[in-house]
Amino acid sequence: MRMSPHLKYLGLTLDSRWNFHEHLRRLCPRLVSAAAALGKLLPNVGGPSSDCRRLFAGVIRSMALYGAPIWAEALTAKTRPLLRRPQRIMAVRAIRRYRTASGDAACALAGAPQWELEASVLEETYRCRAEARDGGERPSPEELASVQRAAKHTLRRKLVENLQSARYRTRTIQALHPVLADWKKRKFGSLTYRLVQMLTGHGCFGDYLHKIAGREATPECHECGAASYSVHHILEVCPACSPQRTTLVAEMGSDLSLPRVVKAIADKREVVADNGHLLRRCHVAEGDCRTGPRG
Ligand SMILES: [Zn+2]
Repeated sequence: MRMSPHLKYLGLTLDSRWNFHEHLRRLCPRLVSAAAALGKLLPNVGGPSSDCRRLFAGVIRSMALYGAPIWAEALTAKTRPLLRRPQRIMAVRAIRRYRTASGDAACALAGAPQWELEASVLEETYRCRAEARDGGERPSPEELASVQRAAKHTLRRKLVENLQSARYRTRTIQALHPVLADWKKRKFGSLTYRLVQMLTGHGCFGDYLHKIAGREATPECHECGAASYSVHHILEVCPACSPQRTTLVAEMGSDLSLPRVVKAIADKREVVADNGHLLRRCHVAEGDCRTGPRG
């Protein structure tokens, strides 16, 4: 009789070394498949609201973090990517973003910490409770609330540290980094298809379509003939957007750089978050002649 090197117990796949490689290796395809199935319900244009998208993302998160206090400590450089891939798929759908987006930026925009960070915080919280229990004490509700608060604080700190050391320090990450706490807590400025394009630069821009998607021969602006049609060009330069720019300048001042726009959204400025109206204006002007890859 052949003995299996793995044992399934209470939904966790255990191995003789307790490194949980096999558990995470089996978990990843299930998460990818579930994320892809839910993703079909979440088209970039139209579809469910941001709240509904967060709910779907929460379903996959719950599947991913099952038993996290047990296996979080065993995560390694080899096993972390097994969690990142499905989370990126889900985060991209949750924020209506193109598939070319980086996982770190998608998570930052969605205000969702990476699962590996959440797993380590869950593990710390569980350890606090377990140690109290082992000492014969039963933590009071106040003590548990205090542990939860400390865990949230740790999570925020780790999220900021993670963004600082992100593999791709994209413009989106650089803009979000200083206002991350406000961005995550904001009750206003839901992420629409157009707004996310503006925040990420991945969308119907000559720069993106020429350099990354390879869908246009040049990155030039179809409106004014400038050499580069980018978010910066739309927000700050293109004469075709002057009327909308005037509205923004009246609201925000003359600085229309991406970090300033992100801060304005985090500060609840309606004029900026109104469906990325400046970008929408450009699409209308062009008759949507620029088409990006399918989101
Ligand atoms: Zn232009």
